[in-house]
Amino acid sequence: ISPIHVIGGGLAGSEAAWQAAEAGVPVILHEMRGVPGVKTDAHHTDGLAELVCSNSFRSDDWEYNAVGLLHAEMRALGSVIMASADINQVPAGGALAVDRDAFSQAVTARLEAHPLITVVREEIAGLPPADWDNVIVATGPLTSAALADAILGLTDEESLSFFDAIAPIVHADSIDFDIAWRQSRYDKEGPGGDAAAYVNCPMDRAQYDAFIDALLSGPKAEFKEWENVPYFDGCLPIEVMAERGRETLRHGPMKPVGLTNPRDPMVKAHAIVQLRQDNALGTLFNIVGFQTKLKHGAQAEVFRMIPGLQNAQFARLGGLHRNTYLNSPKLLDRQLRLKAMPRLRFAGQVTGVEGYVESAAMGLLAGRLAAAERLGQPLDAPPPETALGALVEHITGGHLEGSKFQPMNINYGLLPPLPAPKVDEAGVKIPMKERGRAKKRLMSLRAVEALNTWRGAA
Ligand code: FAD
Repeated sequence: ISPIHVIGGGLAGSEAAWQAAEAGVPVILHEMRGVPGVKTDAHHTDGLAELVCSNSFRSDDWEYNAVGLLHAEMRALGSVIMASADINQVPAGGALAVDRDAFSQAVTARLEAHPLITVVREEIAGLPPADWDNVIVATGPLTSAALADAILGLTDEESLSFFDAIAPIVHADSIDFDIAWRQSRYDKEGPGGDAAAYVNCPMDRAQYDAFIDALLSGPKAEFKEWENVPYFDGCLPIEVMAERGRETLRHGPMKPVGLTNPRDPMVKAHAIVQLRQDNALGTLFNIVGFQTKLKHGAQAEVFRMIPGLQNAQFARLGGLHRNTYLNSPKLLDRQLRLKAMPRLRFAGQVTGVEGYVESAAMGLLAGRLAAAERLGQPLDAPPPETALGALVEHITGGHLEGSKFQPMNINYGLLPPLPAPKVDEAGVKIPMKERGRAKKRLMSLRAVEALNTWRGAA
């Protein structure tokens, strides 16, 4: 059997190599760290699967937390990343955190000892040679420039590295619709003929003033030196806009014109915050124009000052950082292959997922899909009811027409919705405030079942 080539030995590439080799296909893993003089701006060692920042894989609770569910699915599929994390845990409450060096050494040792894996230390500084017919590109957010440029040349995109300006995303069912209402500005119909596409949150003068004060005084995250990217006027952080003048936001993303509060039609709001649907399922909404570099803790506090968002649950907080990722919904097929050159399959953060676990998860799938293709036993991605399938859906399908594709951590909002249960399995009424939690458990149980069915069919 001729080999699969994996480029990049990070979280995704290591997992992809492992999965393909376990399926019986030889793998050559090309990693540029270890070549004298070649490095990235974030890695410090030559180890495979180095964790560049935090040492946490986040919650390990599969019943009530989407990333915990992803852990469980990956363990069930023999993940080398999860196995190496499990044996190198450090105390972290309900989270799974690891000794980063021991973890990376464990992954490196297991891959190097695998009879079907060869690790080669080299940079692939352009398109892979034409006779590599089954390649997984897992080069991460800091993909080397020569390779990024070559990939870009295969697309009609303007850029592959982005200055990521992310606005916070809120779970739709945590918005208080006794305060907020749905209406598009001037009732203008959107592409689907929807004149109520936006969610509107009104503020009076006192609320606006208090909000601006909180924005200006909130702690801001500092950029790392390598993130020395200029601001573009189209995506200024809101706190930078607020610094330009107290009224700036009222004339920008918070302008109140063309909107009427149905509960108080005669009173003009002083400012209005708008949220726009963020996924096709309608379970997530982003706060329009609210890209920010406020620290995460401060963001939740400040944004819950917005009337209607006082109980907001955030699927993702805002941020600004450099990232390299494909416009995957347009460029990749459901097998994670580049439509323009199907011998190239992508995995990890470069596909538009975010986070160690999510990156490794996409490596796991890419490895399995590539091996199945090589063995002539084609495999479908898991269904969207699973956390793994929901990520595939996010990167290859479930975005809204015309919206800009943005990287995402796994969260329950990416899975097909379920109604919140009113009674438990024994028929006992569930108190209102516990129903959201009960719903998560049902979604997790559904995911476990769906993954088992998929494994049975595979
Ligand atoms: P990586 O783990 O970066 O692996 C890519 C590998 O490809 C690297 O080893 C690189 O050396 C190699 N490579 C690149 N180009 C080439 C080439 N041309 N030829 C050969 N090899 C190449 N996520 C979290 O969950 N928690 C965090 O705390 C966190 N902090 C982050 C901090 C920073 C500064 C960055 C940039 C990202 C952070 N992330 C974090 C996000 C992300 O989950 C990680 O970057 C994760 O490592 C991505 O996995 P990956 O396998 O896609 O890429």
